[in-house]
Amino acid sequence: ILNKDYFIGVLEDLAVLAEEKKVYFSELDSAIGDGDHGMNLSIGFREVSKNLEGWKSEDINTIFKNAGTALLDKVGGASGPLYGGFFMKFGVPAKGKEEVSFDEFIEMMEAGVAIIEKRGKASVGDKTMVDTLRPAVDALRAVYSEDDMAPKEAMKKALEAGSAGSDSTIPIIAKKGRAMRLGERAIGHRDPGSASSVAILEIFYNRMP
Ligand code: ADP
Ligand code: MG
Ligand code: MG
Repeated sequence: ILNKDYFIGVLEDLAVLAEEKKVYFSELDSAIGDGDHGMNLSIGFREVSKNLEGWKSEDINTIFKNAGTALLDKVGGASGPLYGGFFMKFGVPAKGKEEVSFDEFIEMMEAGVAIIEKRGKASVGDKTMVDTLRPAVDALRAVYSEDDMAPKEAMKKALEAGSAGSDSTIPIIAKKGRAMRLGERAIGHRDPGSASSVAILEIFYNRMP
């Protein structure tokens, strides 16, 4: 069971993460993009954290709908609508709920990742955040249902799959996003969105009881 406090804690931690890793994400983006990925996330999650207190009495779905809307409204870059869409869809399976089962949590993750793929028209191998998120959510589904694994253990496997997915963006060219224009010059650099996605998954894992 994951309760509302878990999800509120995740959002609080995301705001801390966005500040802590701002320089790192922007450095990655400087190599193959326009250098603002850290700033984009910082602006977005600062807005979330500024308003979070006022959302705490809402159900899980409304909290994430509000968080997603804040990212959509405040972040100019590609990552704003993508992560914004993620959080808006992430909450939907938790509509009207104050807590969810781990099965429902997996549904939430699947819904969020699916909208990123749809909006960005990206799939694994395009050198984007999808390279982290798709293998992570697939691993979550696979290990949890097949091995009857404990939720935190399953989330650890998902994080490992996502981290390996981010690593896999290093030696390839980009087929989506700004880095596409660089062609072969993108080779040798980690995709910034794939790195922020690993950091986000890490928070979901660390907070998990
Ligand atoms: P921008 O590129 O507009 O400056 P950011 O720097 O905040 O936006 O985010 C860049 C990241 O967004 C990329 O590293 C990549 O992971 C992700 N991204 C860009 N385009 C797409 C897309 N079409 N599908 C999925 N992810 C994408
Ligand atoms: Mg950028
Ligand atoms: Mg930009």
